[in-house]
Amino acid sequence: MIMLQEKVIEYSKEIGAGLIGFAPVSRWYEADVPPDFYPDALWSDCKTVISISVPSLLPIVETKISHLYRSQYDILNRRLDEIAYLIALFLIGKGYASLHVSRDGYGHQRMLRKNPCTAFSHVWAAYYAGLGTIGINQTLITKEYGPRHRLVSVFTTAEMQGSPMIVKNLCNRCGICVRMCPEKVFSQNEKNGRNNMNKIKCANQAFDGNPYNHCGFCIKTCPVGEDRKLYHAAKTQEYLAAHHDYTKWTMGIGGNLTGDRLSG
Ligand code: SF4
Ligand code: SF4
Repeated sequence: MIMLQEKVIEYSKEIGAGLIGFAPVSRWYEADVPPDFYPDALWSDCKTVISISVPSLLPIVETKISHLYRSQYDILNRRLDEIAYLIALFLIGKGYASLHVSRDGYGHQRMLRKNPCTAFSHVWAAYYAGLGTIGINQTLITKEYGPRHRLVSVFTTAEMQGSPMIVKNLCNRCGICVRMCPEKVFSQNEKNGRNNMNKIKCANQAFDGNPYNHCGFCIKTCPVGEDRKLYHAAKTQEYLAAHHDYTKWTMGIGGNLTGDRLSG
């Protein structure tokens, strides 16, 4: 089985996956995830979930909301679904029934706005597959890209070895995401000390009346991620200085991309 796993990794890199990890379904049994959304509750034959991530490029994320970002978002979504489908086909070719779970498992934004708990969580899948840890902003924080990436999952009947999970929380609890959120959707859960997120409020926020245009401040301002070094954007204090002055967001910190001129 290890050889099969190595082949899946090799193949996934060839077809454009950024990060990949493997999570046996048993890892869900001690989770905060509702049991109805365990992988084997959704598909009883499932033995392993393969989690795949591709990066969002920081200077383009910083232009969010913009056509430039929207274009990147569409490319990433198409690519993720294709990668997951091809990995499922690869495993089927080796004799293991498999299927891909598309990156927006809730189907449509309208459903998310009505009830955010209607879908399989790729974030939890990626956490159990060792890709990263879950931050205060409720995203999967990775060493490589912080929260600036998108996820997809493959369910397979192949019993694969679980990837080592990351023990030390990558979220440093700096609170920038909480301070920058214009909708104030994050609050502390007094019972367990974790953070709650009002996902409906987040899904309903839109600066220009388009529900697809999340502001994404909680993602673009997170200081974690090697991508920040690559784009010379390690100093995140500038975000706080421009706090809620949206006109300044087109300046971009990562690589000084002028989103207003590039994306309109
Ligand atoms: S901005 Fe800070 S608190 Fe928020 S997820 Fe990133 S590291 Fe954690
Ligand atoms: S996308 Fe915007 S509104 Fe939603 S949680 Fe992040 S900062 Fe808040």
